[in-house]
Amino acid sequence: MIYHLLLGSNLDDPAGRIAEAIQRLVAIPEINILRQSSLVQTKAYGKIDQPDFWNQILEIECGLSPERLLDILLETEAGMGRIRTEKWGPRRIDIDILLAEDYSCQTDNLTIPHYDMHNREFALRLLCELIPDWVHPILNKTTRELLRSLPGGNT
Ligand code: ATP
Ligand code: CA
Ligand code: CA
Repeated sequence: MIYHLLLGSNLDDPAGRIAEAIQRLVAIPEINILRQSSLVQTKAYGKIDQPDFWNQILEIECGLSPERLLDILLETEAGMGRIRTEKWGPRRIDIDILLAEDYSCQTDNLTIPHYDMHNREFALRLLCELIPDWVHPILNKTTRELLRSLPGGNT
């Protein structure tokens, strides 16, 4: 299965932390990184009184189930010293599963596609670099259409 992961960091040299996360993922035998979006600096989302974030999307090929992949991503975050404080607060690393082809699921600890991806301009912009014509399996819109439907999304 092809997965798209969103990496984010706004603490302790964020660009370095994203690079470190990529190195850790490269070292996992079941994960094969196919392509990367550009790395961009973005204003914090949701809770805005904190440092800017750095974000990048990875396109990976991975034979693991979504649940197993999530476990590995959470372990990777923990291994990098992520401490969960308040919701949407500053963090050294955040790795979200944005989507997995046309797969969808909704359980207590995993929602695919990511429940809020269609509202996050930075995520859609980066995704458009890689898969502009992907169709969201629930919303039935392409990445490009989702981006265009946001305020300011057509610039
Ligand atoms: P947001 O999900 O709004 O971006 P966040 O990334 O800061 O917020 P976290 O504290 O990193 O939230 O994650 C909380 C939980 O979200 C994780 O423990 C995980 O079980 C769950 N979760 C559900 N769907 C996903 C997904 N698609 N990718 C990653 N985690 C997910
Ligand atoms: Ca997140
Ligand atoms: Ca997360």
